[in-house]
Amino acid sequence: MRKPHILAQIWRFNCLACQHVWESVYEAWHVDDGHGGDAVTWRHKGLVSMPPWVDPSCPACSGLRVRSLPPGAPG
Ligand SMILES: [Zn+2]
Repeated sequence: MRKPHILAQIWRFNCLACQHVWESVYEAWHVDDGHGGDAVTWRHKGLVSMPPWVDPSCPACSGLRVRSLPPGAPG
């Protein structure tokens, strides 16, 4: 059993409805898929989650018009 390679990433989110801005730490778990490829699963707060750019919702207004910025992105 190969160990996953875990990369913690801080993503920034910007709600376009209420302008709320926040950050969240996501873990990218890179695992060899057994065919020479790299499979990635995401975890958030210890739970398997969707990737940070898929359907983020605003914790302040529950809005779904949220821009997600990967680590190191300008703006
Ligand atoms: Zn909002």
